[in-house]
Amino acid sequence: GAVARDGCERDQEVNVQVMLRCRPLSEEEQRVNAQSAISCNESKREVTVLHSLFKQADKTFTFDKVFGPQSQQRSIYNHAVAPLVTEVLEGYNCTVFVFGQTGTGKTYTMEGEMRQKVSELPDTAGVIPRAVCHIFEILTARKADYSMKVTFLELYNEDITDLLSLEDQSRFPEGRQKRPITLMEDGKGGAVIRGLEEIVVYSPSDIYSLLEHGSARRRTADTALNKQSSRSHAVFSINIQVKETTVGNEELIKYGRLNLVDLAGSENIARSGAREGRARETGEMNKSLLTLGRVINALVEHSVHVPYRDSKLTRLLRESLGGKAKTCIIATVSPSAHSLEETLVTLDYAARAK
Ligand code: ADP
Ligand code: MG
Repeated sequence: GAVARDGCERDQEVNVQVMLRCRPLSEEEQRVNAQSAISCNESKREVTVLHSLFKQADKTFTFDKVFGPQSQQRSIYNHAVAPLVTEVLEGYNCTVFVFGQTGTGKTYTMEGEMRQKVSELPDTAGVIPRAVCHIFEILTARKADYSMKVTFLELYNEDITDLLSLEDQSRFPEGRQKRPITLMEDGKGGAVIRGLEEIVVYSPSDIYSLLEHGSARRRTADTALNKQSSRSHAVFSINIQVKETTVGNEELIKYGRLNLVDLAGSENIARSGAREGRARETGEMNKSLLTLGRVINALVEHSVHVPYRDSKLTRLLRESLGGKAKTCIIATVSPSAHSLEETLVTLDYAARAK
């Protein structure tokens, strides 16, 4: 967690929090009498893999926070994300990642279910709508002078697709534009994405419809291209500019960004090990996941060299990873004994990020 590991120097602070969420057994898993092989101890922040079911020693992992199967969307938001929103409004960049096997609740955690058009957030609403509501609430209460822009992109095979560009969607109804979007260095250590739609938003409902629109596009592409979303990363970014007047009547502008990243399924990591270099897709698809792991490791270890440049995902998030930027990784797992192998991949990867 955010602790000074080497004395009290502020630069030495580790700003990466790693949390774990275990979803409940699904109806399907219950129907086939799947056994639960994961035990969560929220107060000790521990997750135990019950290998004893298979006559092996149990294995326990500790995280900054553990959310058991009964935990609510609201609680995940309050503990994992709300503290980062406070930082963003102070002008920092922060990133939340959801990471885990396909089907373990990454998208549920990030977006949740928002079917009904209601003004109040439903209990099933995920991190993105909650963050949006929270940000507007704070800024309105402060009577702040602000502006907010969002972008929503998908990274697949190291290619960027704009999930919000309306123009391309009408031309390519399969949900994917053909024109590549380019990522360039801005010369100051940051990245500029050329051709990406930045949409100005004025209310939470503006953002909900953009989210719905973008995520529907991701799903459309799924049917066309064989479950592409399990192999792609989706990055929803909220850029906020807050204008403040200081005591001395000077104008102060704070720019903050919150990135909410739904990562490709962790099964892609295991696969890359087994068939390295097989197809472009396998290699490229994993480059961002593997590099992200290395970048987080380097940050946690205070390495001199952080390999941001090795993948598009880390290049585009560079300004939001490391330094004063706070990062939260929520690893998601299924409790089912059937998923044990994949669950261990997720737990190992997540535990290494600490
Ligand atoms: P992923 O994005 O990791 O592939 P999803 O978010 O699509 O997984 O979740 C798979 C299914 O499990 C969905 O039907 C989702 O609604 C359900 N689900 C996931 N997490 C939870 C949870 N904590 N509580 C209830 N249902 C969940
Ligand atoms: Mg998903």
